[in-house]
Amino acid sequence: MTTTSTSNQKKVRVRFAPSPTGPLHIGGVRTALYNYLFAKQNGGELIFRIEDTDSTRFVPGAEDYIIESFNWLGIKFDEGVSFGGDHGPYRQSERRDIYRKYVKVLLDNGKAYIAFDTPEELDKKRAEIENFQYDASTRGSMRNSLTMSKEEVDALISDGTPYVVRFMIEPGRDVVVDDLIRGEVTINSSILDDKVLYKSADDLPTYHLANIVDDHLMEVTHVIRGEEWLPSAPLHVLLYEAFGWADTMPRFAHLPLLLKPIGNGKLSKRDGDKLGFPVFPLEWHDPKTGAVSSGYREKGYLPEAVINFLALLGWNPGNDQEMMSLEEMVQLFDLSKCSKNGAKFDYVKAAWFNHQYLIQQPDEAWAPAFDKVLKENGIEATAAQEAEVVRMMKLKVIEYVDGLGNKKKRNISFASDLWPLTKFFFVAPTEFDKEDKFIRKNWKDDTASEMQQMLTLIEGIADFTVDGMKAIIDPWTEQTGIKPWNAWRVALVGAGQGPDMYELAAFLGKDEVMKRMKFAIETLG
Ligand code: GLU
Repeated sequence: MTTTSTSNQKKVRVRFAPSPTGPLHIGGVRTALYNYLFAKQNGGELIFRIEDTDSTRFVPGAEDYIIESFNWLGIKFDEGVSFGGDHGPYRQSERRDIYRKYVKVLLDNGKAYIAFDTPEELDKKRAEIENFQYDASTRGSMRNSLTMSKEEVDALISDGTPYVVRFMIEPGRDVVVDDLIRGEVTINSSILDDKVLYKSADDLPTYHLANIVDDHLMEVTHVIRGEEWLPSAPLHVLLYEAFGWADTMPRFAHLPLLLKPIGNGKLSKRDGDKLGFPVFPLEWHDPKTGAVSSGYREKGYLPEAVINFLALLGWNPGNDQEMMSLEEMVQLFDLSKCSKNGAKFDYVKAAWFNHQYLIQQPDEAWAPAFDKVLKENGIEATAAQEAEVVRMMKLKVIEYVDGLGNKKKRNISFASDLWPLTKFFFVAPTEFDKEDKFIRKNWKDDTASEMQQMLTLIEGIADFTVDGMKAIIDPWTEQTGIKPWNAWRVALVGAGQGPDMYELAAFLGKDEVMKRMKFAIETLG
């Protein structure tokens, strides 16, 4: 368990703060999971905050999608959008009044200033000055409240001239980000620019200001987020200082990147498309283009498998234990033992986890997924029938002996793998492959007449159960010396596979068995 240095015994509060700019990326799921594990193991709280201050990137439906994803995955939040709580509102677009107040605090303290430079003026500067940056070296030559008189500034504002508020960064300071995973990361403030904190045009703060103000007001103790936010962290440290909140600044932990399964670089949706794995928890229907992106849920993954797989991307319990329930992970997780290095996204391993969780489930639990696969193939079956097929076929057993006594291995990773293995339970053979070795070997010249005899026998069986059939068919085979099993399998399955023949026949029922036998006799002759 992580020993957290919340020395003052403050209750651990963490947050997951996505921007609703599209579907939740699988890396975001991992971030939320680590926040969840950390909160739970410290008896703390997990907040769900929506960071929607960039109105230009807002995508309708994204927020609901994110909530539904966590619902499916079983990651529970303690407060936030759709969960309630007493630190709300939790949607940043509903917190304008709060941000306005804090922008004013920085302006009044001289930590920020107002700038009127238009986009065209900024472009011109960029063209003039190589590597132009709005900072201590250039702000004195720009159109802002540092270079203009108070009267001029006030006049422009009352005229409704658009402006931004910029953070005034003092150059030449080493800023230290104390990261729980990376240790002390130091950068010099001279490389930072005077970031925009607020835009009058839409009366909204930027991510940086809103993020800091909210973490402070929501009493966040630890900021656990993806490595891509590490470059923003020095600015955030300076903002905490500017507000006088350095004492209660959250601890940072920047998680390792998720990397491409093959090659170098960050995992992208393109990798998923190319190699055939989803990068989103649920299927996503783009509201603008109508394009559909695949999701782990629809692909047939169990939420437990996705959670287990993601937990191990960037962390491990220090031994070779791989299978872990969410409760176990809460016990074992250790934020300080997370890797600094990126984690390769091993999608083959994801399927392996799904296989492990799938075969652990009781027979009945397969019904919903099985049902979906059957429906896709136009078949209606009852849950009891589905569980019976799982049992008969020993689908949960990796190494098994089939109805012919052959040792076989199978690797079902997804419910969709079931169809080719179980199709014959629901669909009668419509043709026979005369080249098939099993059929050639087991359907000889006199087979049709033997099957005809058996058919007559079967017609007379009143109790069409395994025991009822045995009582009549076993003595008949002894008397006649006919060994009907493999030919019967050809007739009922159409191939050399499947479960015990009596069990299969009982499942199919007398009418269906007779129908399939007649068809084989007619077709194979
Ligand atoms: N809104 C940011 C995101 O979309 C949050 C980053 C952070 O956790 O500070 O990931």
